Order: sequence, then structure tokens, then C-alpha cells
Amino acid sequence: MLKLQGKVAFVTGGSRGIGKAIALKLARCGSNVVINFTSNEEAAQAVVKEIEALGVRALALKGNVASAEDVKFMLESFEQQFESIDILVNNAGITRDNLLIRMKESDWDSVMEVNLKGVFLCTKAFARKMIKQKKGKIINISSVVGVSGNAGQSNYSASKAGVIGFTKSMAKELASKGINVNAVAPGFIETDMTAVLGESVKEGLIEGIPLKRYGRPEDIANLVAFLSSEEAHYITGQVIHVDGGMNI
Ligand code: NAP
Repeated sequence: MLKLQGKVAFVTGGSRGIGKAIALKLARCGSNVVINFTSNEEAAQAVVKEIEALGVRALALKGNVASAEDVKFMLESFEQQFESIDILVNNAGITRDNLLIRMKESDWDSVMEVNLKGVFLCTKAFARKMIKQKKGKIINISSVVGVSGNAGQSNYSASKAGVIGFTKSMAKELASKGINVNAVAPGFIETDMTAVLGESVKEGLIEGIPLKRYGRPEDIANLVAFLSSEEAHYITGQVIHVDGGMNI
């Protein structure tokens, strides 16, 4: 078991799916965990209860990661409860899929704002504390399509490719401050985000996965916990795929 006792983590979009699995995994490893969500308070509070049942402290903060005002409020609320931040997981993300010809400008903007600007705003706010502490781990959740591209996902792929460029730049900028910055690129993971895809799309996708099965949120959480630990102290600026071989 990885040792994260006494650490404090902030996981954006931690109320469901991959973010929830990450929050619970970090808590199982001993970390206190603050999660963020935008809409479903009930789901977020249920995750808080699950985390607390593991014997660590938890908090849920409502806020849109794409809003500088909300991020400022979340940082202030975080600081009222916790002195340090050891782990930042930029996980919150959305899709607004469509072919380019049919894509609305608002669909482009909202995906770029949540998936890319959100990562910038949260990193800027929380890394400031890590820089003062001279240590920290930042893990950004990108996607396999940020590397490979995908028809019907030009906005999403561009945002996730942006997260990779941001991760590499941050890794170089923050290395001297004792902060490791890495990206995880999930393949097809079974969550609400992928549940909306039709059966025929899903069947087509599985053809392209050498392991011939979809991933689970826990598959991503296991890697995030490792990257959050001291065992990963010599890894920075990397994009690690967890995709059943989709991107070999
Ligand atoms: P999900 O099931 O749709 O959950 C999204 C989470 O993000 C929810 O907790 C949601 O909170 C939160 N969220 C959405 N917009 C937000 C905003 N503006 N500010 C703060 N929180 C926000 O998604 P998922 O499948 O777990 O995906 C998690 C991450 O992995 C995303 O970055 C996604 O792009 C990436 N990813 C997923 C897959 C996949 O196959 N599932 C593959 C590659 C990458 P509310 O419930 O309150 O809205």
C-alpha cells in the first residue's frame, strides 16, 4: 500500500466517475481529501462520507473550475480547513462532441474553458502554496485523444492536447521548487461521460483496444495514487497512458 498519511489532496470533479475513484484511493492510502463539484451536492456529500469512513478528513467545495472567482473562493475555503496542499489532481472535464461543421462556438468555448482554463486556474491558485512549501505533486487528467485526436471531438482533443503541453511546461517551471507535474491519459473508462455513447459506438471502440475491455475509474486512480507518492519522486513531465493499449 502506498503511504500518503497526513497528506492533503484537492481533486477537482471528485463527486463522480474517475475523480471519485481517485479521491477514495488517495483516502485509502491515508491522505485527507478535498473534492470539488459543480452541480450535485448530494453526490459530493456522499463521497465525503465515504472518505471520512476511511478515517481521514474530507470536504466538498462547490465551484466551477473555469471561473477565477470560484477557484479563489475554493482556495480560501480550503485554507480555512487545511494548512498545506500536497496533491492537486486536475480531473474535472466535460465533452460537447460534434463534427466540426456542426460544432457551435459555445461548445468549443465551454470545453476549452473547463478542460484547459480550469487546469490553468486551479494550478495557478494551488501551486502557489506548493511553491512556498517547496514540495507537491500535480496530476492532470488528459486523454488518449489528446495524443491521437478523434473525429467528432476536435474541441475535447484540442483541450486535452493543451493539458499535455501545459503539464510539460509546468514540469519544467516547477521542478526546481520540488514539484512533480505529470499527466495521465485515460482511454475508454466506464463513467457517466462514456455512458451516453451508443452501443454501436462502444462496440466499434472496443475493436481498437488490444486488451478488449473498457477501463474502470479505479485503473486511473491506482496510477494517480502512485504519482502522488514519494515512490514517484523521479517522474515528472510525463504523459502516462492507461488505455488497455489503445494508443500503442
Ligand atoms: P464524469 O463522470 O462526467 O464526471 C465529471 C466530474 O467533473 C463530476 O464530478 C462533475 O461534477 C465535475 N465537473 C464537470 N464540470 C465541472 C466544472 N466546470 N467545475 C468543476 N467540476 C466539474 O467524467 P469522468 O469520465 O469521470 O472524467 C473525468 C476526467 O477524465 C475528465 O477530465 C475527462 O475528460 C477525463 N477522461 C475521461 C475518460 C473516460 O473514458 N471516462 C477518458 C479520458 C479522459 P458535477 O457532477 O457536480 O457536475
